[in-house]
Amino acid sequence: MFDVEFQKKDFLLKQKNRVIDENIFMTVSDLGGRITEISKAYLNFTGYTKEEVIGKNHSIFRHEGANPEIIKNLWETILADQEWTGKLKNNKYSGEEYWISTTISPLYDINNKKIGYTAMAEDITNTKRLESLSITDSLTEIHNRRYFDYSLKREFKSATWRREKFGLLILDVDYFKDYNDFYGHVQGDKVLKLVAKEINKYAKDVVEDVFRIGGEEFAVLISNASDGEVERIALDIVTNIELLEIEHEKSEVSKFVTISIGAVNIDGSKDTMSNEDLYNLADNNLYKAKGGGRNRVVFNVDVDSIGTLKNLDVLTKLPNRQSLIQDLSTIQEEAMLILLNQVNSIKDLYGLDAVSDIVSQKAKQLNEIIIDDSVTLYSLNMQEFAILVTKRALFEKYLSLLKYSVLPNSDENVYYAYDDNYFISDFTAGVSYGILNIFNHSDTVLQKATLNRLRVYKKALHSGNVIPYFQPIIDVKDNSILKYEALARLLTDTGEIASPYYFLDSAKQDNTFEFFTRQMMQKIFNIYAKKKTDISINITYENISSDSMQHYIRNRLEKYGGDGITFEIVESEEIEDYKLIEDFVLMLKEYNCKVSIDDFGSGYSNFTNIIKLNIDYIKLDGSLIEKLNVDKNVEHMITALLSFAKNANIKTIAEFVSTKELDEKVRALGVDYIQGYLYGEPKSPEHYGLV
Ligand code: GH3
Ligand code: MG
Ligand code: MG
Repeated sequence: MFDVEFQKKDFLLKQKNRVIDENIFMTVSDLGGRITEISKAYLNFTGYTKEEVIGKNHSIFRHEGANPEIIKNLWETILADQEWTGKLKNNKYSGEEYWISTTISPLYDINNKKIGYTAMAEDITNTKRLESLSITDSLTEIHNRRYFDYSLKREFKSATWRREKFGLLILDVDYFKDYNDFYGHVQGDKVLKLVAKEINKYAKDVVEDVFRIGGEEFAVLISNASDGEVERIALDIVTNIELLEIEHEKSEVSKFVTISIGAVNIDGSKDTMSNEDLYNLADNNLYKAKGGGRNRVVFNVDVDSIGTLKNLDVLTKLPNRQSLIQDLSTIQEEAMLILLNQVNSIKDLYGLDAVSDIVSQKAKQLNEIIIDDSVTLYSLNMQEFAILVTKRALFEKYLSLLKYSVLPNSDENVYYAYDDNYFISDFTAGVSYGILNIFNHSDTVLQKATLNRLRVYKKALHSGNVIPYFQPIIDVKDNSILKYEALARLLTDTGEIASPYYFLDSAKQDNTFEFFTRQMMQKIFNIYAKKKTDISINITYENISSDSMQHYIRNRLEKYGGDGITFEIVESEEIEDYKLIEDFVLMLKEYNCKVSIDDFGSGYSNFTNIIKLNIDYIKLDGSLIEKLNVDKNVEHMITALLSFAKNANIKTIAEFVSTKELDEKVRALGVDYIQGYLYGEPKSPEHYGLV
């Protein structure tokens, strides 16, 4: 039979097979795992010839260090006729290691009988290498500080969860500075390698892992061992390090290099401490071991000292992040919080051994300027400090200190000496004020606070990543969309969308605020030019008082027209000159723009002045709207504001309308327009079909 269709299909199939053969790592094996087919691409990659592979078991590729658990799981899965996906460590013909991510699927014949398996793989060696680099200390090749922080948290959590014992040893080489000074750094490095190698011998059985956590500091994590065992391991290590007989002429305790160990072992079912407490306890024990003469172990759980140790940062001995959160929860009156953040990672710039010295030095310097009782310095992590000022009268003073002695001014940088290098203070700062509203939400809020944002903000600003998001404003008459309010967002390096409001106050204090506003406006106008959708743009008194900003706005309106544009002016206590706003509004009216007053009723609103401005809308303060259904006074106030607006012939907008109840309420009170989650969250222009 001559079948053209069949020939065509066969031709295509062969082509496909050839492409797969040349590009994809693929093997076919029989039910026993013996290889029956292998792609050219995989042969090329592994360096084997076809003859060497066919008929052999897959294990010829396997690395001797491959995890037997994984192989077992692999077989269990495929024997159960399921597909298995996982990562395997293999060897090439040359012995070179490689990693693949592979998917193995059962293979059936025409009668649906299983005849073997196919495996498709992808080379992931580079990814694996990067992964291991990022958790390995380059000098000693044991796990690094980063991985220690991660492992400590993980192991600690799991021990508490499983109600098991959990032990931590912190080890520090004795008189190591003297060793370096006498024998030189190169020799010092050799010692660190030898010490690491010795400690690493213990990484089995109950010892989970060992780490280099600082210049000459190491750590050991121990799972579910008795106190006796933990102490024995610690003593063993101390003894065996000295037995390495590495000559150390300058040591005062031995002829040889020795170490001291602080050890703890807690009971996951009883103790209520945090992993930081645990670290602090071990560190405190290390301190005692040093004080007690070195070359020894101090091991005990000094529960009484937890209370006092708990809230101190290990390195700087300053109150830590937990203390700050605690302190913030107790403040009664308005406080000022300054967050200082190191722009560049000290570790990246100066290396691991410099970190502790530099951070301690910075802490010392900062501590020197903080002399008042109601001011506290905290060390939040290697990158961040915080200063909490709880007395109003001191706000100005600390702001000036911040500006003139902490932050780098153009000519007046602060220098810190480290060895022979001098480096410039590269802090950024965020300042916030308040009682409850800023920091009482503890952890997460702290993270989001000004400072980190300021950095994100600057980055976004410089890379053109200030972007507008849009939220619809609805007409109560027919629920149609009147217009969209453009809200600024930052697109971060990591692809996150962040709100800029956390740091906007601090941003306003430098000259970037104008660039920020311009970047926003230009993007809004681009959308406006294409879509002719009505858009509302936020503008502040600061913006209006800048001649160059006014000039820019006029120029944009000249170019794009102002017909569908509303400017929302944020009312604030900073408004000193209403004439300025009046003139600005007149200018906007020349281009047929509309004007809205934002946050109306928030306390600053100057009714008489606003009446004079000839504005089109007022937007009722969202924090009032939110309380509408819970506070009768708020309802009275809003009723009054609405009647004021009606008399003045100004339309009203209610924002923050997030529920059906609120929606009904504001409608009943006679609001003209509504904005809020109920009708639409702020979203990308794409979301609302604006691009
Ligand atoms: P103590 O007995 O109290 O532990 O005194 P010490 O001198 O060992 O402790 P100190 O913390 O004062 O000094 C640690 C020294 O370790 C400072 C630095 O010279 C040295 N160091 C830190 N990191 C490295 C490194 O990576 N290589 C070398 N060779 N030396 C390092
Ligand atoms: Mg030391
Ligand atoms: Mg040390």
